[in-house]
Amino acid sequence: KPVHPDRRPAVVTGASSGIGATTALTLAAAGYPVALGARRVEKLTELVEQIKADGGEAVAHPLDVTDQASVDAFAKAVTDDLGDIEVLVSNAGHVSPGIIHEVSTERFASEIDLNLLGAHRLVRAFVPGMLERQRGDVLFVSSDVAVRARPFMSSYAAGKWGLEGMAHAMQMELEGSGIRISIVRPGPTWSEMGTDWEDAAAADVLTGWIKFGLARHSHFLKPQALADAIANVVSQPRGIHLNLVEVNPEAPL
Ligand code: NDP
Repeated sequence: KPVHPDRRPAVVTGASSGIGATTALTLAAAGYPVALGARRVEKLTELVEQIKADGGEAVAHPLDVTDQASVDAFAKAVTDDLGDIEVLVSNAGHVSPGIIHEVSTERFASEIDLNLLGAHRLVRAFVPGMLERQRGDVLFVSSDVAVRARPFMSSYAAGKWGLEGMAHAMQMELEGSGIRISIVRPGPTWSEMGTDWEDAAAADVLTGWIKFGLARHSHFLKPQALADAIANVVSQPRGIHLNLVEVNPEAPL
């Protein structure tokens, strides 16, 4: 069937809550057909219904970015549903705090697996098609922790730092290919992140932030601030590339 030249199907990973869910709603409201991926499919289905009720186009499929077979099945399903994917928002991520010498190697590795290798698996699944068509946007949701490490978040800092390193190398490799590689780097944001932390771990994080002067943000952002930044980055006209956008709460007066 003929495809409208402005129709740009978009994938959002980690779309079942927080920044990802709000980004999916925002892109859909801006006219993007959106494909939502995460492990909690029932949450995705609710969002798809909401988008459709508002006149948008959306589909959802289960996705575990730590499993290449799941990523590949997701990529096939969303392409079958929406056509060639033009926008990939790699947003799925998580942090579980712990002091470095007590964190097991397995737990450290699992955080790298999610926050860094998960993004690489998505690149392997979606970028070859974009290269064939010589167009596309790949956006990685990083963290301010990538460049300003916070205590009790060593594995998360390593994963997000690695993610940004991968993105910078990728920008060079794909320069002139028609694919824009971008990083959006959120500061502290209200979401489900942290709601599963034990009280003691959360207290360690907060006292660490205060001790090292990292508590300058008296406010947290709402996910909408990030969703707007992400939509802005991927909606730039050809010829303009917002390589890196960091979004922080305004420092207290
Ligand atoms: P949430 O916990 O609300 O959202 C995380 C999302 O990732 C959920 O949709 C979750 O869905 C998904 N997810 C987790 N593991 C997997 C997996 N293996 N496969 C697929 N999806 C997965 O947190 P945020 O919205 O805050 O986080 C979004 C991104 O923003 C993350 O990359 C995070 O690192 C980054 N960030 C957040 C900050 C904050 O202060 N909140 C600050 C800086 C960066 P499900 O469980 O259903 O799979």
